[in-house]
Amino acid sequence: MSEYLIQQYEHIKSDVAEAAQWAGRSPSEVKLIAVSKTFPAEAIQTVYDCGQRLFGESRMQELEPKHATLPQDIEWHLIGHLQSNKAAKAIACATFIHSVDSVKLLDRLERLAGESGRQVKILLEFNISGEASKFGAEDKQAMELALAAAGCRNLIWQGLMTMAPLEADEAALHRVFGGLRNLRDRLEKESGLKLPELSMGMSHDFPIAIAEGSTLVRIGSAIFGKRDYTK
Ligand SMILES: *Cc1c(COP(=O)(O)O)cnc(C)c1O
Repeated sequence: MSEYLIQQYEHIKSDVAEAAQWAGRSPSEVKLIAVSKTFPAEAIQTVYDCGQRLFGESRMQELEPKHATLPQDIEWHLIGHLQSNKAAKAIACATFIHSVDSVKLLDRLERLAGESGRQVKILLEFNISGEASKFGAEDKQAMELALAAAGCRNLIWQGLMTMAPLEADEAALHRVFGGLRNLRDRLEKESGLKLPELSMGMSHDFPIAIAEGSTLVRIGSAIFGKRDYTK
């Protein structure tokens, strides 16, 4: 089992680098987050032993015990929707929170980070595709959110995140990922801040996300295999 996992991991790592080169970018500009949700600590340890340090989880119930037991130099990325009653745990465990999509959540995280003396990197999540079922802020909330994020002292605002609809074709993927990049460029100009990170691209769509400027790809099933949510 673990041999297969190692093979998949090395495969994806080279695919990500290749997609960057194909897009005329340096592979060092694109970081791979291994999305380990639903997979056990042993699988994470195997990938860790290959040198991977950035791991992504969707739920605090899973992130918290993994953070407690796995090596301390793992950089945990919380990529799923965050309920405000889990915000304190997120501040304690995550290095990076990708899913900040309201001023209310932002204010809460900023206060909790201040109280715990921690600095946490954040991304603002936007729903670029306009799909009703997805989390993420809408474009028209961008200025309000950006102003609030720019005013934070304990949260370090690094950029934007989005998810593309599963059924999107290639043209739609370019629209969604290019749309997030354009929104980032606009917010950089208006805020005068540097927003270097674009978290976009998953197992099935990362080459297009990289072509559109992704700096953080979140890849789960292509590394770890199919998820079993029934366990
Ligand atoms: C699960 C998840 C991923 C990884 O998806 P794969 O298709 O397995 O690569 C990426 N981003 C988010 C927000 C997720 O919830």
